[in-house]
Amino acid sequence: MSNVLVTGGAGYIGSHACKALRAAGFTPVTFDNLITGWQDAVKFGPFEQGDLLDRPRLDEVFAKYKPVAVMHFAALSQVGESMKDPGAYWRNNVVGSLNLIEAAVAANCMQFVFSSTCATYGEQDGVTLDENCVQEPINAYGASKRAIEDILENFEQSHGLRSVIFRYFNVAGGDPEGEVGEFHRPETHLIPLMLDAIDGKRAALTVFGTDYDTPDGTCIRDYVHVCDLVDAHVLGVKWLEDGKQSRVFNLGTGSGFSVREVIAYSAEVTNKEVPIVEGDRRPGDATKLVSGSSRAIEELGWTPQRSTLKTMITDAWRWHQSGHYDK
Ligand code: UDP
Repeated sequence: MSNVLVTGGAGYIGSHACKALRAAGFTPVTFDNLITGWQDAVKFGPFEQGDLLDRPRLDEVFAKYKPVAVMHFAALSQVGESMKDPGAYWRNNVVGSLNLIEAAVAANCMQFVFSSTCATYGEQDGVTLDENCVQEPINAYGASKRAIEDILENFEQSHGLRSVIFRYFNVAGGDPEGEVGEFHRPETHLIPLMLDAIDGKRAALTVFGTDYDTPDGTCIRDYVHVCDLVDAHVLGVKWLEDGKQSRVFNLGTGSGFSVREVIAYSAEVTNKEVPIVEGDRRPGDATKLVSGSSRAIEELGWTPQRSTLKTMITDAWRWHQSGHYDK
């Protein structure tokens, strides 16, 4: 079986990707420093602990497994944190990714699937964002991911490293079989925080800003189910294995929901009230991020199955209640 090196394979999205890779007949090799990852989530292939800033360790892992491709998830990924500590984002995300990319090229592993973000687009006045939109990030997280996209482009020109870049919108939900799920410490994402508020693990959800220029004053995001998202990544590996050219794909649904709408859906799914308090805007948040995602459907053959808000919240709620979350 072909090995795929999955950086961040112990994290939320990476662990779901490992499951999908395994189901598609690949062996996912997780490379993770466990700073935000969770070793219990490495269930579908070998685990190698290591840090992207440690180049000799990366070389060792490439030599041991000879992966056919890299799937690169490992990153710091919080908008708010990136505004407080941009250096951490440039060091971990950009310098770490540069190490990984150089190690891949040195090992002649020339197929690279990269986890980028719609945060690279920045604030674009309410337009639907397709892959050709100008990238003008408004936070250090988005800037760090855009820089990595640039590195990949240069390494293709100079070394022939082919890549599939996925720009994610808001990832939510979890494995319907409950083997893995969303787990961050500390948690910063809307849906898990809301579920915490619903079952009393926190007093209330703070709504970050109610004065945005949107119909109900709260930010609008495009939510995509993690299982659909990782299915696209497996298609990305196959795309590269088929010898196709480097390509960028948005992964979202094209439907936007405001924070208040997500809260209303969650109350409906769980049949419980969501205690909220209205707070200030969070620095770095764009008003509206909604994907034009037809390219992935048309070119990659991506067929999202679970990306309705109802299914995403139902799957997240099931995981939330399973007790894994309390470990
Ligand atoms: N949000 C919120 N309260 C929270 C966490 C998030 O109001 O406790 C809002 C946040 O401002 C954004 C949306 O929910 O508009 C999604 O935020 P999240 O952190 O989940 O993802 P991001 O859009 O930053 O990738």
